[in-house]
Amino acid sequence: MSKIIIFLGPPGAGKGTQSQLLKERNGFIQISTGDLLREAVKNQTELGKLAKQYMDEGKLVPDDLIISLIKEKLQEYADKNIIFDGFPRTIPQAESLDNLLSHLNKNVDAVILFKIEDDEVVKRLAGRRVCPSCGAVYHMIYNPPKTDEICDKCGARLIQRDDDKEEVIRKRLEVYHQQTKPLIEYYKNKIVEIDATDNPKNIYNKIASMI
Ligand code: ADP
Ligand code: AMP
Repeated sequence: MSKIIIFLGPPGAGKGTQSQLLKERNGFIQISTGDLLREAVKNQTELGKLAKQYMDEGKLVPDDLIISLIKEKLQEYADKNIIFDGFPRTIPQAESLDNLLSHLNKNVDAVILFKIEDDEVVKRLAGRRVCPSCGAVYHMIYNPPKTDEICDKCGARLIQRDDDKEEVIRKRLEVYHQQTKPLIEYYKNKIVEIDATDNPKNIYNKIASMI
């Protein structure tokens, strides 16, 4: 039976970093709504045009857009082990996911909660650099590329995300506390907490041993 895992936690907690490792080493499919939305914005699709302003302001994209995106992906990857990275982010999104999964005779197996303080998140996001070509994630101090500003994996020039600016980061954190944190109660029987301030290798080992 395939596994469905949710990575829950504030922006910058390290969800994408760990998803990437589980994808490379354990064959999980990573479904990141943030990555899917950024791709839609880049390709100027209808979804991208609708989502852009919310993302630039650090607000959540409306639930109905996110849910139809997920519905499509679940059909595509019905039999795979999946990590949802950055989804669900609201109670209605979580209810819709349960509903979609029940039609496939599945359910959420575990929710990994990444615990980290806001000030550390700000430091992480301000130093984050991403590869626009292959999606690899770096940090200028904690996880720098071998050559300045160049992706180790594919050689592309790294960029800073538009929403990784301090005022947008603060807004994203506020949105997390108000709209996403209620999911901790919603998933209380499935939550496993991890200390997201530990180093990436230890975090990976903990998650890999659990799932
Ligand atoms: P999220 O997907 O939760 O928004 P990321 O995985 O993109 O978070 O990580 C945010 C930033 O923090 C990146 O610059 C990343 O390199 C760095 N980072 C990720 N995990 C750790 C860690 N365990 N310790 C220190 N820095 C980390
Ligand atoms: P992320 O890459 O997860 O940090 O997401 C970047 C931005 O995309 C967020 O600040 C939101 O604007 C939007 N977004 C990503 N996932 C969701 C979601 N599940 N629900 C609503 N908005 C989302």
